[in-house]
Amino acid sequence: MSIQANAEHVASYYAATANPAPERPALVGDIECEVCVVGAGFTGISAALHLAEQGLEVVVLEAARVGFGASGRNGGQIVNSYSRDMDVIEARYGADTARALGDMAFEGNRIIRDRIAGYEIACDLKQGNLFAACNRKQLDGLREHKALWERYGNRQLELLEGEAYRREIDSERYVGALVDHSGGHLHPLNLVLGEAAAFESLGGTIHEQTPVLEVRHGESVTLRTSGGSVTARRVVMAGNAYLQGILPELEGKSMPCGTQIITTEPLPEAQRRELIPHDMAVEDCNYLLDYYRFTADGRLLYGGGVNYGGQDPADIAAVIRPKMLKTFPQLADARIDYAWSGNFLMTLNRLPQFGRLNDNVYYAQGYSGHGVTCSHLAGKLIAEVMRGEGERFEAFADLPHLPFPGGRLLRVPLSALGAWYYATRDRLGW
Ligand SMILES: Cc1cc2nc3c(=O)[nH]c(=O)nc-3n(C[C@H](O)[C@H](O)[C@H](O)COP(=O)(O)OP(=O)(O)OC[C@H]3O[C@@H](n4cnc5c(N)ncnc54)[C@H](O)[C@@H]3O)c2cc1C
Repeated sequence: MSIQANAEHVASYYAATANPAPERPALVGDIECEVCVVGAGFTGISAALHLAEQGLEVVVLEAARVGFGASGRNGGQIVNSYSRDMDVIEARYGADTARALGDMAFEGNRIIRDRIAGYEIACDLKQGNLFAACNRKQLDGLREHKALWERYGNRQLELLEGEAYRREIDSERYVGALVDHSGGHLHPLNLVLGEAAAFESLGGTIHEQTPVLEVRHGESVTLRTSGGSVTARRVVMAGNAYLQGILPELEGKSMPCGTQIITTEPLPEAQRRELIPHDMAVEDCNYLLDYYRFTADGRLLYGGGVNYGGQDPADIAAVIRPKMLKTFPQLADARIDYAWSGNFLMTLNRLPQFGRLNDNVYYAQGYSGHGVTCSHLAGKLIAEVMRGEGERFEAFADLPHLPFPGGRLLRVPLSALGAWYYATRDRLGW
């Protein structure tokens, strides 16, 4: 998906309730700096902020606005760990890799909370998220999931078997749930706007409306934009699913996917207390999962569906509202006030891709649907590797970056076929 010139935030609930933020001028002229970051989402701003805290001179170039991509549009769920769980990592990549990644699985969550507290970011943080099982097989999976996460140090999990889940969700759809009391949810656009302001307070510079058009590799790297260029000793590429056409090495082994969200009108407090009594964020365990939560002003924010290739459906509410009503038929009369779409980046093994090109261009991308916490971890690890402490970054960088079957041409239909198979298994409870 190419970003239009002068693109603004998508018309979402988040954009409508964003904290005031300055418009940062586009880059004009040729400048030099120590580190240039491309992309002002969680990955780019997290890296920029960690680097600025280390005293480095950092310039961020953003094609549209801070938080324009997935970071300013997502479900806002603080979900621990990765899109692939540690048992699979252990089985495929060995105990050492699993231990290294497992030790970092809950760190992104902590970084977010430290940022919010340390820089006093107003972003509607609430406590707790849960995973809801739609069938017995998924509930068995949650039981294993709990044991696994406990092994890696998360002691704040609670399995709700049978009808006990109704303590948390007033829906017929489930057979149980796993609560993570250490998870949570927040207003993601306000988080990234707050982190960007924190970065600027340390002397960092952000240029919005400045797409990078070309990367010229060398001892220093030159990033060409329409109004000028930045020459930097080191570069961080953080364009994720919105990066297009400038680094085929990063774009070939992943696939942009669209997912859509709707938001109801504010609901009466009594109804909210019935539907999700403890105000947690919820996602189900289906391959094509639904995710939802209440916003600070009492709207149900409901997301679901995946479009391989990242094309938006013509009528988002027509796709997502039936899913919401399947979970909560009680909301048949609720007005839908906002509907929007965003792209995340899927990898074949569902593990993030961290690495570097030509020694001085670092990247982190491909969180495969769960990126709120891992993108924050990524920023920290990039800052670590740049100060010569690369062990934790390398633990991720050593993971294989696999090409999608079918290449760029056939990856979309083949993935859709695979998803159809897994969605059918979920429906039948296999
Ligand atoms: C609808 C939706 C719901 C989601 N829900 C959740 C959730 O609840 N919990 C969770 O953990 N994860 C969720 N995710 C995933 C999560 O939002 C992402 O993994 C994460 O935000 C990725 O952050 P990022 O900074 O890497 O990428 P992005 O936020 O997409 O940022 C990339 C930025 O790079 C810029 N850019 C691209 N190319 C260029 C260029 N050439 N020059 C300059 N700038 C460029 C873009 O404009 C963009 O601002 C969701 C994703 C979507 C789309």
